[in-house]
Amino acid sequence: MQTYAVVGAGPSGLAAARALSRRGIAVTGFEASSRVGGLWDIEIPRSTMYESAHLISSRTTTEFHEFPMRTAADYPGHRVLREYFQDYADQFDLTGLFRFDTRVTRLEPRDGGWDLTADGPNGVTTEWYAGVVLANGTLAEPHVPRFDGEFTGEILHTSAYKDAAHLAGKRVLIIGAGNSGCDIAVDAVHHAASVDMSVRRGYYFVPRYLFGRPSDTLNQGRPLPARIKQAVDSRVLKMFTGDPVRFGFPKPDYRIYESHPIVNTTVLGHLGQGDLRIRADIARFDGHTVRFRDHTSDDYDLVLLATGYTLDYPFVDREHLHWRGASPRLFLNVFPASFNGLYVMGMIEASGIGWQGRYEQAELLAAYLGAVETDPARAQRFRQRVVGAPWPDVTGGYRYLNLDRMSYYVNKDAYRAAVRRERTALESA
Ligand SMILES: Cc1cc2nc3c(=O)[nH]c(=O)nc-3n(C[C@H](O)[C@H](O)[C@H](O)COP(=O)(O)OP(=O)(O)OC[C@H]3O[C@@H](n4cnc5c(N)ncnc54)[C@H](O)[C@@H]3O)c2cc1C
Repeated sequence: MQTYAVVGAGPSGLAAARALSRRGIAVTGFEASSRVGGLWDIEIPRSTMYESAHLISSRTTTEFHEFPMRTAADYPGHRVLREYFQDYADQFDLTGLFRFDTRVTRLEPRDGGWDLTADGPNGVTTEWYAGVVLANGTLAEPHVPRFDGEFTGEILHTSAYKDAAHLAGKRVLIIGAGNSGCDIAVDAVHHAASVDMSVRRGYYFVPRYLFGRPSDTLNQGRPLPARIKQAVDSRVLKMFTGDPVRFGFPKPDYRIYESHPIVNTTVLGHLGQGDLRIRADIARFDGHTVRFRDHTSDDYDLVLLATGYTLDYPFVDREHLHWRGASPRLFLNVFPASFNGLYVMGMIEASGIGWQGRYEQAELLAAYLGAVETDPARAQRFRQRVVGAPWPDVTGGYRYLNLDRMSYYVNKDAYRAAVRRERTALESA
């Protein structure tokens, strides 16, 4: 039996370690920080978590099915989630599979596998593995856009934001109204001297609760066709949250679910109270002054970039992951078509895919690696299908915006169904 390496002990790396070891596949894990939990561990230096963060998708749609969370909260906070991952790792004996404080710095192909170089408490080591599962996270490397001019106040990316005390008494401009931008805007109104948000496009705001239940638990398991769901849900949103254009947002130039929805209506409440203002896209910086594209301007002390993240696998040459544009092109976002022994976990962005969706990826990978180990002809048939047949459409019929961050976006129902189908085909072939 060969050993496979897993890079990262966040939810995706833990899911991979669990699914592989459950099949009797030998795993050695590498985690740069001192414990499990990934970005949910606010204590680790590279965590992009902030104090006010809670789940955005609700507990029951997010948790691992085989390990329900022990909390009644529908949207628990990050500390509860960090503990949840520790309990998960303890329950399934995963912690002992990982080498902590050990960062993978280089992967080089050799003899059908990979030389993995890591830097840890015992210094730099290089070892050979039959395959490497990359689960180092998708929300770690900040995307910092270029702006004309220079801002001489403080510039902070959300990845470095920890708590609202940092905003106290400052004139704050948040650039971007994604989920983190809106969370931080809500923090800011209680502490900052003033809060503005600069946006380029309109957004759809989904309430956390609808009809008294977490909104993402409604209509589960019975996905409607894209066009019908878009029509029904935009009507429901109009009834519950009204039209965000009233608060100064531009009208979205796309349909609902063609970009990631914002699960935050508190921010709309604050707009209604006049606690913050929506501003146009940035034209340029000029000292402490920010000039907007609608020819207005204002002075700020702090510009907070809620501009998202960029995918990064810094320890492996891009050709091995078949990068195309902003993301690697992989079968079901997991397998390079060259089957070079690299596998990617967690490179999925989707509304409500949760950690169970990531675990199902890991189960498919485990089924494949199990076949590699015990039934090579079966594994070969899977590879032939990947190389020779069209890849499943995982958009669910939604036409996603042509943005970098949407380049690896999937529809959770279409994606999970495709993963299940492939696993069934692999196991019954
Ligand atoms: C504020 C916020 C709210 C969110 N809310 C939700 C939500 O409600 N629902 C949801 O499903 N998702 C949510 N997410 C998305 C989140 O990314 C996932 O929940 C999940 O953390 C992804 O897990 P991961 O294991 O892929 O990556 P991470 O959690 O980022 O874990 C990656 C791990 O890899 C380690 N690592 C990185 N590089 C190396 C290296 N070279 N060597 C060794 N180790 C390395 C890191 O230290 C880290 O522990 C949210 C994210 C944020 C920031």
